[in-house]
Amino acid sequence: MSSIYLHIPYCDTKCCYCDFYSIENHDSKNIFIKSLIKEISTSAKIYSDKEVVETIFFGGGTPSLLEPNELELILNSLYNNFTISDSSEVTLEANPGTVNLEKLKAYRSLGINRLSFGVQSFNNDELIFLSRIHTGDEARDAIKLARKAGFDNLNIDLMFSLPNQTIEKLKFTLNEAFSFSTEHISAYSLIVEPNTPLFKLVQNKIVSPLPVDDDAKLYNFILDQMSLNGFEQYEVSNFCKPGYHSRHNSNYWNHTNYLGFGPSAHSFWKNNFENAKRWSNHRNITKYCDDLENNISPISMEEFLTKKDLSTEFLFLGLRSSGIDLNKMNNIYDKNISIEQKEKIQNYIQKNYIELNNNFIHLTKKGYMVCDSIIEQLL
Ligand code: SF4
Repeated sequence: MSSIYLHIPYCDTKCCYCDFYSIENHDSKNIFIKSLIKEISTSAKIYSDKEVVETIFFGGGTPSLLEPNELELILNSLYNNFTISDSSEVTLEANPGTVNLEKLKAYRSLGINRLSFGVQSFNNDELIFLSRIHTGDEARDAIKLARKAGFDNLNIDLMFSLPNQTIEKLKFTLNEAFSFSTEHISAYSLIVEPNTPLFKLVQNKIVSPLPVDDDAKLYNFILDQMSLNGFEQYEVSNFCKPGYHSRHNSNYWNHTNYLGFGPSAHSFWKNNFENAKRWSNHRNITKYCDDLENNISPISMEEFLTKKDLSTEFLFLGLRSSGIDLNKMNNIYDKNISIEQKEKIQNYIQKNYIELNNNFIHLTKKGYMVCDSIIEQLL
């Protein structure tokens, strides 16, 4: 069982906060698709007979800039080179400003069965601040069209902790999101990443980030509203209706093997827990395509992970998401944190940050609020 991620590195315009690898010039699209297909078939020679692929995720960038015939070429290459499960989850990230009914219907008929819309906000002033290419109305239309095209598994990405954001503004966006009864909502706090236009605005004191206390209040409000509207929290930023967690993201958090194709894409593979490797591709479309054209690997970074590295990640990823089976951790990694960190865990349980059931620990709502600090203490 494994996962495949494909990085489609094109956007119409770059959002001010974004540090994902993407470019605004689309002239290289044909050569990129050719290179991507070559990377898929080359990788398949090593990995295709090892595991059945359970999830495929088109991320970016803006994968919904791909025309259906371009997407079909890539999917055909995946299906010809790998064993894909009949029940696979196939997700495509879509920017609401780039879709219409015809395109969405074509995506659905190609086997895409989950769409993730980068909505971020339904307030137009916030969308302008974030330099998104769509309005709130265009986001509403795109979600309705996706339903019309037959998608019954939709995610909406939202962003909070925007400068000067109030509870009222967030409430408006959340209520709009709930009105579409989507199966999944992700809500991310705005992070000011280095090397972004937003970073410069903050450095030059043109924009002031929201104070930490206000960020916590907004997050707390989100947790309450999600719960009131029937969403389960299964990761710090991810909420779903029962049964609709993102299988792809959950695989990342479970240490499932995954292969990433495209510039800047990351991969992780372990043959056993003693022999694990992570690698990533060049974050440059020209270098990526040239290397593949010249039969050179497009990998720019490769690291080997020890059992200790893996156990640290297991704890970190497990606590941020649905929890940790302490017996499993002990069996696989020879790490018994229920003994090593007994006092701290008991303390967190008493203060209602952590729950312990049958040797399985998970964060409570109060625990998710201070997740990073709990992880730091336990590590
Ligand atoms: S559309 Fe997405 S990937 Fe593209 S710049 Fe905006 S946030 Fe980044």
